[in-house]
Amino acid sequence: MSAHAATLTVGPSGAQPGDILTVTVTPAGGEKITGVGMQAFDTDQVKFYTRPDGSVRAFVGYPFDRQGGTFPLAARVQTDKGEQTVKYNFKGTTRVYPTQRITMRDSKTAAKMNEKDALRQEKLFVQSKMKNSYAAPLWKGNWVVPCAGAATSAYGRRRYVNGKWWGQHNGADVKAGTGTPVKAANAGRVALSAYLPLLRGNCVVIDHGCNVFSIYMHLSKRDVVEGQSIGKGQVLGKVGATGFVTGAHLHWETRIGWEPVDPNRVIARGINF
Ligand SMILES: [Zn+2]
Repeated sequence: MSAHAATLTVGPSGAQPGDILTVTVTPAGGEKITGVGMQAFDTDQVKFYTRPDGSVRAFVGYPFDRQGGTFPLAARVQTDKGEQTVKYNFKGTTRVYPTQRITMRDSKTAAKMNEKDALRQEKLFVQSKMKNSYAAPLWKGNWVVPCAGAATSAYGRRRYVNGKWWGQHNGADVKAGTGTPVKAANAGRVALSAYLPLLRGNCVVIDHGCNVFSIYMHLSKRDVVEGQSIGKGQVLGKVGATGFVTGAHLHWETRIGWEPVDPNRVIARGINF
């Protein structure tokens, strides 16, 4: 390593699809980072945030539809002294998900397929509320399960409906009766609170800072408004059956930008800035 080299580290080692990768660029001594350009997996521009020691850190979701293997990652680092490329070969391990085959009335799935444009509009609306994450961590310490009840459908579950590929489950489900309180998995700011009739129903999105978000769907009632601060464990709404559902439950997600990561792994491991 030359005297004026920045370093790139990506962890944790042995990470698997659905995990959050922690990407850190540390400048050479006496240099100040002024910008970092990096692509990783499906993310065109990884968002970096400055840490107190002058290094910069980003979180990247390891997409659940990828295998294990070696992923060569590179970052273009600008400092007050110049520009350089730093590299890191990240090694991921394969994760195998359960497969579920369900039957649904054909009319119901057909109706859903006919709504593709409208579904896209709903998704674009949610994405529009998640563009500008707060530039520092708002979460603190461990993450909590947002709702009491049985975990019924885990993140990553591969689903076939009437024998046709439907997709992977991008969140976690908790079975609970209508009216059960739903709490914020950690502290943040309410980025979206809206009724989205096609898929998500009554939906709340919390921005936890540094491009980390959590999403709560199918609520019977929303108790928060966009822009307000919310504490860890604070009630944001009630379990319901709004949107595209077959019964009352909470579907909740954790995302890095738009990339869904495994909520149960977030609870087990936390997120360290
Ligand atoms: Zn779900």
